[in-house]
Amino acid sequence: MANINPFAMAQQQLDTAAAKLGLEPAVHELLRWPMKEIKVLLPVRMDDGSTRVFHGYRVQYNGALGPTKGGLRWHPDETIDTVRALGAWMTWKTSVVDLPLGGGKGGVTCNPKELSETEKERLARAYIRAVAEHLGVMRDVPAPDVYTTPQIMSWMMDEYETILGEHHPGVITGKPLAIGGSAGRVDATSRGGVYVAREAAKKLNIDLTGKTMAIQGFGNAGQYAALLGQKLLGLKLIAASDSKGGVYSENGIDPEALVKYKLQTGTLQGFPVTDAISNEELLQLETTVLFPSALEQVITEQNADKLKCKILCELANGPTTPEADDILDQNGVFVLPDFLANAGGVTVSYFEQVQNTYNFYWELDEVYKRLDLKMTHAFENVYGMSQQENVNMRQAAYLVAVARVAEACRLRGWV
Ligand code: NAD
Repeated sequence: MANINPFAMAQQQLDTAAAKLGLEPAVHELLRWPMKEIKVLLPVRMDDGSTRVFHGYRVQYNGALGPTKGGLRWHPDETIDTVRALGAWMTWKTSVVDLPLGGGKGGVTCNPKELSETEKERLARAYIRAVAEHLGVMRDVPAPDVYTTPQIMSWMMDEYETILGEHHPGVITGKPLAIGGSAGRVDATSRGGVYVAREAAKKLNIDLTGKTMAIQGFGNAGQYAALLGQKLLGLKLIAASDSKGGVYSENGIDPEALVKYKLQTGTLQGFPVTDAISNEELLQLETTVLFPSALEQVITEQNADKLKCKILCELANGPTTPEADDILDQNGVFVLPDFLANAGGVTVSYFEQVQNTYNFYWELDEVYKRLDLKMTHAFENVYGMSQQENVNMRQAAYLVAVARVAEACRLRGWV
């Protein structure tokens, strides 16, 4: 499973939904492939005077619902197929939350940990120069993803505006607040996940107050899930982990103190009045809500049977393999699938674009209110589909998302 081509997996997931929806062969074929792929070479001057040539990609997977939207990854393992797969998943993600956007993704094969800040800036600007003609608020809008940051978005926006000779802040999202970012972007992914966990609990007749949560991956998404799970839902954090291992306390862990501790020490280990716990043990704890917030493919056919959570809220992309999904289904675990559970990030990115276009900025409360409406509505649509078609939440999310994109393709007369 770990070696499976991610794009083959994305196509396989689509094939299942296409069969269930009875998609016409031409629509199915259209949705199996990116509509446009851009491959660029980026010669970049390094600090020592040498030149290195990087390979960059931008995939505009499907723009039937609107301008394509999706993050930029800088990663040593980036390939055209990872970018294609992530572009497909972005297409279903923007569709399932009913945003007027298509899906895309970009990447550069590089190891950012080996680059200085000035080298990163030159790489960011080189990428934009290479793909600028394909970008724009009405064409394609990148955002941060793995190893790209608000600072990198700032350099990219500046390069784009320099090329065009005018302001276009909406060309890229995830910018710092001072140059057109949106209030509420920083915790949007986790906040959206917490909102849909709340809705799931209502359907399952669970009062979450005082119930337990565990978090695998105490990074950006995981830390905010812990803070907001407690603040908004009254959940008690009993375990959290990162790549070095985890901590557990049945009496509960203060999320704020744990975030501070991780910031100061760089680890969770040794946090007072907790026991050490492995990542695998954490997944198998008896909890009400489990938030996988680290990597893909951590819940597999080997361990799925041992999961004892009631709600699995997938903040990470692709944490559950298809084989594990079937097991969770049989065991009655309520799964909030990744492209629904973590769609809060792209939703607030869309809000950022809207505010940039109007050059008028919303208060934080406004962002929260609109995000809650979008996520709750998306949850209701997916839940309704799962009841109507008697399928699990992941299959239902695919049916909702793919049907919308297919309809837009037909209405445009593409098929
Ligand atoms: P991050 O780098 O801030 O955090 C990842 C965390 O996972 C780190 O604490 C790391 O130590 C931990 N980790 C790594 N390997 C682990 C392992 N084997 N076991 C347990 N923990 C491990 O990244 P992030 O932005 O929080 O993203 C996490 C996941 O959420 C990714 O799958 C990402 O694609 C997804 N996601 C994030 C956002 C967002 O807005 N941040 C949006 C959508 C999806």
